[in-house]
Amino acid sequence: MVIVTVHIVEWFQTHNFAIIKSNIMESKIATAEGGTIAITKQVRAFGTAAPAGPLKQLNIQRRKPTPHDVEIEILFCGVCHSDLHTARNEWHGTIYPCVPGHEIVGKIVNAGSHVKKFKVGDFAAVGCMVDSCRECEYCKEGLEQYCEEGMTGTYNSTDPHLGIQTYGGYSESIVVDEVFVLKVPENLDLASTAPLLCAGITTYSPLRHWNIGPGKRVGIVGIGGLGHMGVKLAKAMGAEVIVFTTSPSKIEDAKRLGADHVVLSKDKDQMQRYSGRLHFVLDAVSAEHDINAYLKLLKVDGTLALVGAPEHPLPVAAFSLIPKRRSFAGSMIGGIAETQEMLDFCGKHNIVADIEMINIQQINEAYERLLKGDVKYRFVIDMASLKK
Ligand code: NAP
Ligand code: ZN
Ligand code: ZN
Repeated sequence: MVIVTVHIVEWFQTHNFAIIKSNIMESKIATAEGGTIAITKQVRAFGTAAPAGPLKQLNIQRRKPTPHDVEIEILFCGVCHSDLHTARNEWHGTIYPCVPGHEIVGKIVNAGSHVKKFKVGDFAAVGCMVDSCRECEYCKEGLEQYCEEGMTGTYNSTDPHLGIQTYGGYSESIVVDEVFVLKVPENLDLASTAPLLCAGITTYSPLRHWNIGPGKRVGIVGIGGLGHMGVKLAKAMGAEVIVFTTSPSKIEDAKRLGADHVVLSKDKDQMQRYSGRLHFVLDAVSAEHDINAYLKLLKVDGTLALVGAPEHPLPVAAFSLIPKRRSFAGSMIGGIAETQEMLDFCGKHNIVADIEMINIQQINEAYERLLKGDVKYRFVIDMASLKK
């Protein structure tokens, strides 16, 4: 029976149309004998059926591992502000029910017959992507996040295997092709490593792309999950780091995280001191704010890379850019090879996130605290709590 299942699933993958039933309850495919066979397994998860929430326990279907897949028992999952934006449909296009979570660390409990990188019992991690076309110019360059066909997000994408939405890490387990699974450095604490899978790579990738290192003066704006990782990483890369925060309570912390200087962004005099002095600014703010105030901090040819993704547009004044030939850019997560490079860099430099561990039952309260900037600096869910 097992052999038949694997055979049918492979056939299903190559032909991609034999599915006869696929929804949150179950997925079945037709057998050659005219019957049906389940190709999914039901697992417990936490998600929401509507933008107004709240998140609560529900069951979802995961595909049974194909020969190239690993099944991961999820131990820890970070809480990214993108989870909140998506659960509440702030970017529009959320498919419900929605199970967020893309900062996943766990243990391999099942490995397909063709899996080479992992074996049962290994720790492994999954970030924001679980697949891409693998053939376009960007996938071939290791920039799967910019795949021409659109990457398959860990949640809120269409699962090419089952035809339903992908479900994220607020769940017992996940099944992912090993190509999109990362190795976790052995010396790092597992729970504090989870946030590296989004907050870490989203800040590491632009810092690398814009060649941040010794001799560069870098501004990090917004000290939340992303921002605090940006400070640690930019410092480890050798840059001079200036933090811009709206929160007086974060001043001392920012220095502990590695900032050379901290500016309260509401104080105009403090802001003026850095006018035209920064090579690069990484903006990780989740809500509306005056982007022009930060563009003005750039030197000639400086770049502001926006990674924060507020719900509403940010107006940019022409004269924030023109006088000093400044660039205003964006950056989205990072490719798979670069994510592994980031994890290895963090292993080498002993960098993890500062976390507050919560149970899954506290997730709605955690979202409210996230909106108030009241987290130092990433919530991580102990997924064992889902079994309670
Ligand atoms: P977070 O932990 O909530 O941090 C956001 C920080 O922004 C806050 O701690 C606060 O820092 C600052 N902030 C919040 N509201 C503000 C306001 N009204 N005005 C000025 N500053 C404000 O969020 P996160 O998880 O780091 O995510 C940050 C943003 O990045 C989100 O929009 C998220 O969706 C996006 N994101 C993008 C990517 C990508 O690929 N580009 C990946 C992941 C996340 P201070 O207290 O220091 O001011
Ligand atoms: Zn994220
Ligand atoms: Zn592609």
